[in-house]
Amino acid sequence: MAALIPDVNDVRVNALFSFSKEFGQDATVCVCAPGRVNLIGEHTDYNEGYVLPMALPMITVIAGKSNNTTKCKIISLSDAISLERDVEFSTSKEDLKAGEPKWANYVKGCIANFPCTVPGFDAVILSTVPVGAGLSSSAALEVATYTFLEKLTGRVSKKQEEKALACQRAEHEFAGVPCGIMDQFISVMGQEDHALLLDCRDLSTKQIPMYDINEFLFLITNSNTPHKLSSSAYCERRDACYEAAKVLGKKSLREATLDDLQVLEIQKMPEYVVKRARHVITEIQRTVDAAAALEKDDFTKFGELMNQSHDSLQKDYEVSSVELDTLVSSAREVKGVLGSRLTGAGFGGCTVTLVRKDAVNEVIDVIKKRYPGKATFYIAKPAGGARYMSTDIAKSDFDSDIENA
Ligand code: ADP
Ligand code: MG
Repeated sequence: MAALIPDVNDVRVNALFSFSKEFGQDATVCVCAPGRVNLIGEHTDYNEGYVLPMALPMITVIAGKSNNTTKCKIISLSDAISLERDVEFSTSKEDLKAGEPKWANYVKGCIANFPCTVPGFDAVILSTVPVGAGLSSSAALEVATYTFLEKLTGRVSKKQEEKALACQRAEHEFAGVPCGIMDQFISVMGQEDHALLLDCRDLSTKQIPMYDINEFLFLITNSNTPHKLSSSAYCERRDACYEAAKVLGKKSLREATLDDLQVLEIQKMPEYVVKRARHVITEIQRTVDAAAALEKDDFTKFGELMNQSHDSLQKDYEVSSVELDTLVSSAREVKGVLGSRLTGAGFGGCTVTLVRKDAVNEVIDVIKKRYPGKATFYIAKPAGGARYMSTDIAKSDFDSDIENA
């Protein structure tokens, strides 16, 4: 069966209880930020194209309180980092330096990029976003931290874009990961039953409604094979894209069209460069078309575009793997599946499948039969972005919706 995603309110209550247990006081601030899955638009971000992610019901919650000192003491209750769960450091910007434990660098980066002085505080972190699975536990941690600091200091970002960009800088500067902008944008801006169309050229966004989403589900399947593209494989693909744009005299492949592929052939560009360019040019168009399909409530078309995206990533961009191809082809055997594709940079990590609600168990059964490894399943519907949560344990978190960040 699919992993049950813990109820958001249960995670909140657990975090509040844990804070009281660890610090002997009640938390006065509680916030959360979600992980994400990209539905379509892969390897388009560094080509100034579009991406179309949705926020997940898996969240990172931070509960805490000012401690009237100049230091913060934070405990992450994640199993994945059980060795060094406690960290203590000065919140003064001059003192902040990347170091050990590594997970605290994401928090330090947010404090360093926060627009005002951050007082000392105590906090616990509790997350249901799987760590390192490609569902962006890192952005969930950054955006939750930043949201926590907003509530703690009363310095709330006027623009959501600024908040997302500050969190991205935190990851660049303190964790040393040169990530794109998608993860932080969707973790900040996610809306229930919506995907987010993000233009990576000018960072404009559009909320895309999923009207009939109650008939469908997204099944996320973790191949449990490492999701990292090796940096040389990633650089080869990125450089091929930049080279193709240069030969075409364009700033990026965003400005190229399918006709330009012939120009590349006439210029005798190597075949792999033409293939990389073909993926990017067609994927940017597919992402725009996918958003338009959702706006017309056309989930069938959306599913077809997901399938085409995977096939292009497999054949032209060559970033799929035997494991991901097996997950995708198994899912597509089931009648109620509208589309299935790898999600993330490739070579491992997760697939995402759009499936009719009543067929989801059959998909899981077929994958279990066909997939030689051990897959993990998550069933999701588009969820909300970063928000404040109630600190009242007795209250259901529904009551705090009015407090949304
Ligand atoms: P992904 O974002 O795909 O999950 P990354 O490698 O980008 O994978 O980020 C994972 C890292 O983020 C972890 O190794 C850890 O340093 C940090 N992290 C994420 N969630 C938590 C958490 N709940 N507590 C502590 N660190 C976390
Ligand atoms: Mg990450």
